[in-house]
Amino acid sequence: MKIICIGRNYAKHIEELENERPAEPVIFLKPDSAILLKKHPFVIPYFSDEVHYEVEILVKICKLGKHIDKKFAPKYYEEIGLGIDFTARDLQSKLKEKGLPWEKSKAFDGSAVIGEFYPKKNYDLENLNFQLYKNKVLVQDGNSKSMLWKIDEIIAYVSQFFTLKIGDIIFTGTPAGVGPVSPKDVLIGKLEDKEMFKINIK
Ligand code: ZN
Repeated sequence: MKIICIGRNYAKHIEELENERPAEPVIFLKPDSAILLKKHPFVIPYFSDEVHYEVEILVKICKLGKHIDKKFAPKYYEEIGLGIDFTARDLQSKLKEKGLPWEKSKAFDGSAVIGEFYPKKNYDLENLNFQLYKNKVLVQDGNSKSMLWKIDEIIAYVSQFFTLKIGDIIFTGTPAGVGPVSPKDVLIGKLEDKEMFKINIK
């Protein structure tokens, strides 16, 4: 399976990183080795002094497809979830400056937290509230209403480049409030008030 991530999908997060608002979605991939194993702590990698959390809504692909029309996109996912796109921000800034690919800062081992998945029919996808708490303090508070590209548009767009396979997971971008993690921090993600993951930082 593969993990497809969307960057710069919330206007306020684009502003906080002083990025340009893209004309098309920004896409990058994480390999399956990036998945943080269930119940494992996240270990801050030695090559970064500034790893940021980015809480994101996840979509699990349930049907093989390419060149998917937006109006058929809902047939390609049954479940949604919540996760973290851990980012070595210091490294990413250096790579961006040089115009190099982001993988070392985004796709390293443990950088993809994938929480529980639940049927999409339980939710209003146009109005999904989600939060990240660090040490019980609210640090990110998002709503899918603020996405520049909605889930169906993302599926239509990415499937022009990559065949979507059963089990692939899409990270749909993070809202404002990203920030660093330190050893002993505890991160809890909630979707519509339900706890979707809990991660200890080491
Ligand atoms: Zn992200």
